[in-house]
Amino acid sequence: MPPSNTLLPVPNRTVPFWLCEVDPLLQRHRTTAELPRSPVDVVVVGSGLSGNLTAYHLLKKDPSLKVVMVEADDWCSGATARNGGHCKPMTYFGYEEERKMRGARTANDMLVFEESHLARYAALVEAEDIDCDLHVTRACDVFFDEAEAQAGQSAFRARKRDFPQSVAAGDLREISDPRELERISGMKGGFWGITYPAGHLWPYKLAAGRESARMCFLNRTTPPLTGGSLHQSLRSTSRQG
Ligand SMILES: Cc1cc2nc3c(=O)[nH]c(=O)nc-3n(C[C@H](O)[C@H](O)[C@H](O)COP(=O)(O)OP(=O)(O)OC[C@H]3O[C@@H](n4cnc5c(N)ncnc54)[C@H](O)[C@@H]3O)c2cc1C
Repeated sequence: MPPSNTLLPVPNRTVPFWLCEVDPLLQRHRTTAELPRSPVDVVVVGSGLSGNLTAYHLLKKDPSLKVVMVEADDWCSGATARNGGHCKPMTYFGYEEERKMRGARTANDMLVFEESHLARYAALVEAEDIDCDLHVTRACDVFFDEAEAQAGQSAFRARKRDFPQSVAAGDLREISDPRELERISGMKGGFWGITYPAGHLWPYKLAAGRESARMCFLNRTTPPLTGGSLHQSLRSTSRQG
């Protein structure tokens, strides 16, 4: 029966291209038949990039931690296995709206945080020698709609006025001269453009490539528990242990 919660994995999902090269060790992997009977330190729900990176960093910090990863479907079969792996922090957008809602410092901090992901991914891939097709390059966004070009330029310049050092550190470079834009992008007719560090990778392989993923208990096809029932289930297994 399909889960009533639409956020949970649905049965008979389509198989994405990004699962055409799966890790045979991790696929359909399950280290224990039941949830562990003894208490654990951390339960990670979901084996996508969020769950795997969380487990990775926790275990890196303290290898003695007992970590259980529960997965309702197959290993890393959700959004992580369905996205094209663009690491494209478009931080020239969004500053003004966030500044209105949360103030300038928080708005900038959020964009700096977003920008930091590319370098962190690159450092992780290098440190763990992960073969995930990571390619670090620059993106060049070109705006062909005048109103959108103005919106992008205004948001970018507002942030640059307030936090010039952050924008310089993020290496965002606007191109306002249409001829220069055409020369750099190779595209005619753009009103405004911007270049910034970006990259692409194979997200499934990034998640599968770390030894730490293999260190977790991994319960494949754990019944999709909601927060409350998972808590209840772990409490009862802990009591039996
Ligand atoms: C089509 C598409 C394209 C995208 N393109 C990009 C892109 O180019 N660049 C980019 O940065 N981002 C992109 N994204 C977003 C990116 O894929 C997600 O932000 C990221 O993969 C989320 O990772 P996650 O680990 O949080 O979620 P997921 O990878 O979805 O992992 C969640 C896991 O939890 C499991 N689960 C869910 N509920 C339960 C439960 N109750 N109990 C047990 N297990 C459970 C699921 O089965 C799943 O395996 C794209 C997303 C999609 C769908």
